[in-house]
Amino acid sequence: MTRSARLFRYRIPINSGIVLSGQQLDERVGYVAQLRDGACVGCGEIAPLVGLSVESSEVAKQQAICVLKHWVDGQDMTDMALYPSVAFGFSMALMCLSGQLPSLVPYHTVPLLSAGSMADTAAMGALAECRLAKVKVGRAVPGHEAEQVNQLLCRFPHLSLRLDANRAWSLSQAHDFSRHLAPAHVSRIVFIEEPCQRPADSLTFSRETGLALAWDETLQHAARAPDFRLNRLAGAQTLVLKPTLIGSVQRCAQLIGDAQAAGMSVVISSALESSLGLTQLARLSHWLLPDSVPGLDTLHLFSAQLEIPWPGSTLPLHSLQPHIQVWQS
Ligand SMILES: [Mg+2]
Repeated sequence: MTRSARLFRYRIPINSGIVLSGQQLDERVGYVAQLRDGACVGCGEIAPLVGLSVESSEVAKQQAICVLKHWVDGQDMTDMALYPSVAFGFSMALMCLSGQLPSLVPYHTVPLLSAGSMADTAAMGALAECRLAKVKVGRAVPGHEAEQVNQLLCRFPHLSLRLDANRAWSLSQAHDFSRHLAPAHVSRIVFIEEPCQRPADSLTFSRETGLALAWDETLQHAARAPDFRLNRLAGAQTLVLKPTLIGSVQRCAQLIGDAQAAGMSVVISSALESSLGLTQLARLSHWLLPDSVPGLDTLHLFSAQLEIPWPGSTLPLHSLQPHIQVWQS
């Protein structure tokens, strides 16, 4: 069998002026690794996220080139320490190459709203069909946001919510939020992600209010430590796992298995991948977590899709641009 590999680069403008770690993100830059072995082809997206990934896209590119050369030459790579985004994209390309990732899956995601979306007629219309949505909080006065959540839950009696505050609140601001939340609504909050700036305050808040807690930033940060242990994340009911920030498919699967054995739920979530990466995350989520709806509703932030469309999206589709390297064994 003849092996070859290519690395594509993409740049897609971001519409919404999203701010990550204090930096406005105007475009998404990433790479797609394509592996070819005889007649089989597999792709994986390597797209470190500015402000959240430890690796820059430049060093990820250099490492990806090295990995692809090793793979084409059939060299053993078990001892190579890879950046999370490279490990994820390369392992995903291998999975697709070997046909291990299911392709016929429901492309479900949880719709993403902000507390201000109540005025958005289209968003509200789509919610009538949903039983679960995600609302970003921590962007306005906590009490006002709780009132908006109350209104949303009153208007859609079958709806449950995942909330995400992205560590915006002090403990007292978090309590402001929960004081304004109608007591009958607490059980319809599936979880709140990272309510407080300090994880210890988030644990206190969850204990004192009965609102279930999910770790996102805390998980991505803890998982970087070489001596990472899952028990450091005790106290939360759910882990929000962003594979681009965690590592290979195998590492994600191990983490999911360990979390479930410890009684925690896991939700796979996007780190602003292109439509190519998002469709693969939907397939990965269905394979590893068939009962969990992933949080992948980020495509609308982009001005275009990449190579593989998300079912139902009307955004224009860009093809992978001419590869920047080719290796043939
Ligand atoms: Mg989050």
